[in-house]
Amino acid sequence: MALNRVPSIAIPTKLHAAIGWARKFSLFVYPFVTACCGMEYMSVASGHYDLDRFGAALPRFSPRQADLLLICGTVNQKIAPVLRIVYEQMCEPKWVIALGACASCGGPYDNYAVVQSADLAIPVDVYIPGCPPRPEAILDGIMSLQAKIQKQDHTY
Ligand code: SF4
Repeated sequence: MALNRVPSIAIPTKLHAAIGWARKFSLFVYPFVTACCGMEYMSVASGHYDLDRFGAALPRFSPRQADLLLICGTVNQKIAPVLRIVYEQMCEPKWVIALGACASCGGPYDNYAVVQSADLAIPVDVYIPGCPPRPEAILDGIMSLQAKIQKQDHTY
């Protein structure tokens, strides 16, 4: 084996890039489940789809221990203030994924009781379409968020 061969592993060489790499592969999920999309999250978190491959295996059941808020389901007018409180309890840096049509744009419920997008209550980083989204679409959303995290400024 030639001594001058360099392994093809991508190793971050700058501190902020290394922090971004560590953060994107150590996501602690708070599943905010209000409706049927929660079933798809459970499917993704199970062994078959193996969310652990993306460093997001362990759901937290306190927002104070989580940095990724996964909104799974309908956000109605009564639950929106609760969603806001949960979001505010999370520590920085934090990210939000709207999982499914309901969380992204109200889904099939175009009526007075349903908030027509979770981003009317809190900031959202990634929207995953589908009613419900396939597990592969959810994994794609997680990877999109990871790419976004890697590009963010982690110098603070
Ligand atoms: S997007 Fe569809 S599957 Fe998901 S919570 Fe809304 S109605 Fe249920």
